[in-house]
Amino acid sequence: MLFENVDAHLKLRSQLLQLFQSNRVPHALLLSGKEGSGHFQLGLFFATLLLCKNVENGPCGHCSSCKKMLSFNHPDFHFSFPIHLSKSEKSEISADHRSSFVEMIKEYHCIGKQTWYAKMGNENKQGVIGVKESQEIIKKLQLKSYEGNRKVLLMWLPELMNLQASNKLLKLIEEPPENTILIFISDQPHSLIQTIYSRLQHIQVPSLSVDHISQYLSNYFIIDEVEANSIAKSSSTNLHRAVSLFLSKENTKEYLSLFIKWMRLCYTRNISDTIDWVSDFSKMGRETNKDFLTYSLELFRQCIVNHYQINLAGLSPEEESFLLKFKPFINHKNIIALNEVINDAYYHLERNANVKILMLDVSLKLYKLVRVK
Ligand SMILES: [Zn+2]
Repeated sequence: MLFENVDAHLKLRSQLLQLFQSNRVPHALLLSGKEGSGHFQLGLFFATLLLCKNVENGPCGHCSSCKKMLSFNHPDFHFSFPIHLSKSEKSEISADHRSSFVEMIKEYHCIGKQTWYAKMGNENKQGVIGVKESQEIIKKLQLKSYEGNRKVLLMWLPELMNLQASNKLLKLIEEPPENTILIFISDQPHSLIQTIYSRLQHIQVPSLSVDHISQYLSNYFIIDEVEANSIAKSSSTNLHRAVSLFLSKENTKEYLSLFIKWMRLCYTRNISDTIDWVSDFSKMGRETNKDFLTYSLELFRQCIVNHYQINLAGLSPEEESFLLKFKPFINHKNIIALNEVINDAYYHLERNANVKILMLDVSLKLYKLVRVK
């Protein structure tokens, strides 16, 4: 997470190191840039530097403090981020969602709004940093540091603080408790209220280059150089977009083999193996299950489109070669029923139906439908 082995933003990293070495660390720092510009990684780099016990040319990466930072377990490092506010008291602060947040960072090695909102259950719902969050931050930062060193708060997307939360936090920014550093990571710094904005030391983070994005992908994922470069080029220099593109390609490969296996079982009416397939499928998690159903619908749709001699578009070579053999089984006699069965299953998955019972029932319906010619 510290741009390890990636030579991106070297100038900014050395600027942050200089602030540290010359004892000019501001109490409140704003790192702003476009989504996926690496501003979040720079924020983590700076936080790790501030807490490291053995700084030389940057955080050492080996001391007890750096190790705790790398596993996101440092007691003097706090995250704050937007969440979907619900009516229940408990879910109104980001600490309640910390484990999913860290899970996302570990999976993506970067961060993006849409991914976070989807992880919280609704990618179209805007997150908020509410007044309870500000109260919690003030409470946390007033405590003594656990390790006797600094306390660091990193707030992602402070522009999503509502007015009450901003006003509450203003005083803390004006007079932070001793040895406390606040780092704000913003995609839209001008949406911050002016009284807060004017109190932050602002560093603008430029977008990453295609080369750096490609390096980053190679460093954190198993990917060959040509693919890393091609994804980096189509990412509009947004690191988060590049990672999402890569991970969705990986998912697609997995979904295709799952789909091929399922269709074979349905065609051969192999009930005991279908039960095993359904059992494995149910362990993949509800979001993945829903994603897979959407993927299946798309493959059925592509089969129909291809009957009319329209070229298959947007498919991988593996998908295309499978569909050319599979398309005779999907036709105008069964497509409407197939659509209904899958859409219905999606509807019930969303409403917490038992996945095993539901998918076994769907499979049995498909036993009949894929043989309609
Ligand atoms: Zn260290």
